This record gives sequence, structure tokens and C-alpha cells, in this order.
Amino acid sequence: MKILILSTSVGALSSGIGGGVELTIYNLIHEMQKRNHLVKVIAPKGSFFDNADIIEIEGNLHIPAQTQSRDIPTIMPENSVLANMWEYARKIQSDYDVLINFAFDWLPFYLTSFFDTPIAHFISMGSLSDSLDQIMTETAKKYPYNFGVYTPSQAQTFPFSDICQHLGSGIDLSLYEFREKPEQKLAWLGRIAPEKALEDAVKASQISQIPLLIFGKIQDEDYWQNILQQHPNAPIEYKGFLSTIDLQKELGYCQALLMTPRWIEAFGNVAIEALACGVPVISYARGGPSEIIIHEKTGFLVTPDSIEGLVSAISRISEINRQDCREYAQQKYSLPVWGDGFEKWLKLVRKN
Ligand code: UDP
Repeated sequence: MKILILSTSVGALSSGIGGGVELTIYNLIHEMQKRNHLVKVIAPKGSFFDNADIIEIEGNLHIPAQTQSRDIPTIMPENSVLANMWEYARKIQSDYDVLINFAFDWLPFYLTSFFDTPIAHFISMGSLSDSLDQIMTETAKKYPYNFGVYTPSQAQTFPFSDICQHLGSGIDLSLYEFREKPEQKLAWLGRIAPEKALEDAVKASQISQIPLLIFGKIQDEDYWQNILQQHPNAPIEYKGFLSTIDLQKELGYCQALLMTPRWIEAFGNVAIEALACGVPVISYARGGPSEIIIHEKTGFLVTPDSIEGLVSAISRISEINRQDCREYAQQKYSLPVWGDGFEKWLKLVRKN
């Protein structure tokens, strides 16, 4: 197949602003190229990947949906990068068999019926906006095979949950080294933004008196500064936004990954990255992580938003066999397994 990927419009690829979707796109390129498909990517200017030919497009970035309230009308910035990306795609669409939309934004859904080449919509978040839900629902009625999501928990947040293809996620396990013996520290990783509730992990680390290493892009500086002010004595260390190779090196030495999303996490790529290093995951029993983690086997699922729950799970972490975590990631979240499902979906979209 000739595949044209249209990236998220909230940030350049490799900036970290796009969150897990950046890793998902990177892995998809890798896996589809391995299967001899031709892959091209259209993304905002400044995007960079070592495995792809990226067509960089100028224009203003879009506001991430999760920073807006549900009822706010759809906003298009002046000289929208998303509009520019899709205008470019419109001109070259006949060279491709299928287009994949990764933007969680109104425009690509609206444009679906104006394109001759089929568009597969990969939805990377749960429901966040009424206007977006409405256009997605209308589009899903006309194109019931074209909607892919990470997990059933995520799909359930949408009115069109019954037609969603559940595609999960996968990682290149050869990049993640298994570490049998951790040091006395915990990890938290992801975009530093309110929906991720980093403050809960900071509180749990302070009560447990186990250092917490924090990795990730600071998306909301005020939110981050507020956490630092509220918890001046917490044993935390900010390590920055690291590449996958550097991230896995540090992550592998941690006793557990704490995942504390306040929202319904669509998946949580960070969970499978931790498991691949042999690191158990402690998370709230809600959304994607509740489908990934096997309670008391690869980590612990605790009552959502309960700091006590996190603290109690931290005290039980030695009960988890780290080898089981690695093996589970190998069985369920390898790139070939994920690639099979994704490829099958793209073929389905082309056919219908
Ligand atoms: N990440 C990274 N370097 C870091 C911290 C995080 O590359 O130092 C990546 C991580 O690999 C993951 C993404 O950031 O792919 C966070 O994605 P997740 O699916 O957990 O959440 P999202 O941001 O999509 O809501």
C-alpha cells in the first residue's frame, strides 16, 4: 500500500507536545515499512523522525482539545497548520491508497467525504468536545469502517463506540532493556499537564519517602510550578524529556511506574514501555491502564484518585515478578502483533 500519514496539529513530531501519538506514529512508520508499504508523513514544520520522509508544513499550531471545555466551539487559528496540511494532502491524494488522520480535531472528519482517497481516522483520545463528537458521529455513520481507537474503554466515551476498531498499541521491544534489579526509586512519565495529575504521584512519593523521577515534556508551566510550590519537600527529581533510548535506560532502574491520569486515558503508551523494561505499573483503575495492567501480576490497579491506594500499592511492589512484566509486554504489545491489526484495518478502510 501507499500510505499517507497526517500527523497531529498540536505540535511538531518529536517535540513531545503530541504525547503518545508521536510514538504511535513513529512505530507505525517502522512497522509498515518493514512490510514493504510506502509511507509518507505530513506534519507541522520542525517535525523530525529518523525513520521517515516528512513533508513539513508551515502554519499555526492548534490548541489541544484537552485544554478546552466541552462546550467550546471548534477553534481554527489564523493560517491553520491543519488546514494547510490537508490542502497539501488534497493535491497529492491520488498518489496514495489510504490516508491516516492522527489529529484529534474537527477538520479532517468534516473533509472525509470531499476526498477521493479513503481516510482512516485514528482517534488518540477519549471524548473531550461536543462539537468534535458531533462531527465524528456524523462521519462514522457514513464511514463505519474508518474509525480506529486504542482501547474499548476509550471507545465507550463516544456515541459511536460500536463501530470503533480496537487497535491497541505496540512498541519495538528490542529498544527496551529488561532490568531484573531496580534501585529504590519510582518513575512518573508523560506530558506534564493537569489531566495527568502528576501531583498525586508526588504526594504518594512523599508519603512513601521513595524518590520519584519525573520524565516528560512540561506542557503547562504554571501547573508544574504550582506542584513545586505545593510540595517543596517531596523527594522528586525532574529529568527532562528524553529520547526512547535514554528514557528506557533510566526507567529500568525504577521499582514501579506511577500512572495517575485524572481523565479516561485512551491507552497509556508509558505503561507498556515500563512493562517492557520489567517495571511494574501502579495506576488508577480507569481507562486504558485498567485494560493493560493485570492486577497483582504486572502491577496494581487502585481506586481512581486515591493517594492512599497508590501508597499501599507501592508498599507491595516487591510482590511483582519483573520477568512477568517483560514477558507480558512481549506477548501482547510487540510491533508485529500490533502491525497485523493495523494493517488489516487499513485494508478494510480501502475496501469499503
Ligand atoms: N515520553 C518520552 N520521553 C520522556 C517522557 C515521555 O518520549 O521523557 C513519551 C512516552 O514514550 C510516551 C509519551 O511520551 O510515548 C506519553 O504518551 P502517553 O500515551 O502515556 O500519554 P499522552 O501524552 O498521549 O496522553
